[in-house]
Amino acid sequence: MLSSLTAGREDGARIADRGEAMLVNAAAPSGVAPPMGQAEFILPATDKADTAPFWQATREKRLVVQRCDSCGKTRFPPRPHCGACRSDKLSWPEVSGFAKIFSHIVVYPPVLPAFAKYAPFPAVLVELAEGKHLRMFGNVIAKPGDTINAINPDSLYIGQPVRVHFEVLTDGVTLPRWLLQPEGAR
Ligand SMILES: [Zn+2]
Repeated sequence: MLSSLTAGREDGARIADRGEAMLVNAAAPSGVAPPMGQAEFILPATDKADTAPFWQATREKRLVVQRCDSCGKTRFPPRPHCGACRSDKLSWPEVSGFAKIFSHIVVYPPVLPAFAKYAPFPAVLVELAEGKHLRMFGNVIAKPGDTINAINPDSLYIGQPVRVHFEVLTDGVTLPRWLLQPEGAR
């Protein structure tokens, strides 16, 4: 995970195909006057067959995962075939957006130039409420509009409740981020 941030990757399409685009792009700034259409940032390829429905849903402020239409098993990151039964029949059910922190790291320099002014910053792997096998990377924020480095990484802990928040980066790209929830939230 860390290597995708620090190894100078510039192939957004490949990263998106691997389901890691959220972490990479989560370094885009938010808050006051975000630079919309920010060419300096790596944006996910939102038109790939495997992932386009996910990005379409985020633009509609919905979080979706894949579900196999043959055996019913859900999965994420998106893949063309079911790992359980190999079927390529699938649909994209919406999930609640509730999750818990499964793991977290702190990203330190050197990072890609667009990320430099935010480093060090925390990044999280969250486990969706709909299943322990459904995990997503992203950045964590305490309130909408926060920059990705606003939270003290030392305050994060495994099992901490979060909920998805949708950050509009460009006309075509809306990114899920993870908003801290009060303790005791689902
Ligand atoms: Zn299946």
